[in-house]
Amino acid sequence: MPELPEVETVRLGLTPHLAGRMLYGACVREPRLRWPVPAKLNELVDGQRIHRIDRRGKYLLVQMDQGSLIIHLGMSGSLRLTTTATKPEKHDHLDLLLANDGVLRYRDPRRFGALLWSAHPEQHPLIAHLGLEPLGESFSDASLHALCQGRKTAIKLLLMDAHLIVGVGNIYANESLFHAGIDPLLAAGNLTRPRCARLVDAVKNTLTKSILAGGSSLRDFVDGHGNPGYFQQTYFVYGRAGEPCRACGITVLQIRQSNRSTFYCPHCQRR
Ligand SMILES: [Zn+2]
Repeated sequence: MPELPEVETVRLGLTPHLAGRMLYGACVREPRLRWPVPAKLNELVDGQRIHRIDRRGKYLLVQMDQGSLIIHLGMSGSLRLTTTATKPEKHDHLDLLLANDGVLRYRDPRRFGALLWSAHPEQHPLIAHLGLEPLGESFSDASLHALCQGRKTAIKLLLMDAHLIVGVGNIYANESLFHAGIDPLLAAGNLTRPRCARLVDAVKNTLTKSILAGGSSLRDFVDGHGNPGYFQQTYFVYGRAGEPCRACGITVLQIRQSNRSTFYCPHCQRR
């Protein structure tokens, strides 16, 4: 599944090719994605200029004159720039048509992704209730500390709660807690302000490193140019149960939290 860094990599890859360009319609071959593609997509986008591509959590917002396309890549979605001369393949469900026979093509074998239209995307039900953006300025030691106040939830589960903080997936939650030296089972309400600051830094650094590496987790992910964008990264704890901690040599442990695997070093990560 594309995680936040992959989606950000797509955004960064597509932006220079799409910002400022006109759309001349859409060709929908398969509207049955997670939610139906708008029946009038062709009319909705025809003649509109793309101003920019924003991201909110794992949603791409293609901002145009009269509204925005909201795109989610689901489990297996990808976007690539091509031309009308390139024949669509089996899972290429729709094309957005650009000048000079350019095409932005959406492929999604499993069809869990979405492509929707909204005149006011920030008020769309999928977007309006998303939590803090971890790479944004609003995610700070103060805001994290405020979120944690009075909560008995384990800090790892709080990090992964999209109503509170959006887009910190399991890999990034595990790695960030390691770098911050925090036990994933620590009750969020017991996290001091200085440790919140360390955790915020660790989350931002972990996500940023992954974006720089081109994303990490999707096998068939491609960036805006159609290049494979993921690179297996070196993780400190994720997926390393039974192996020695890269910092102290003690065996990395694996537990389950809310049905997800948690990996941590009992020496480097403290309550
Ligand atoms: Zn260690």
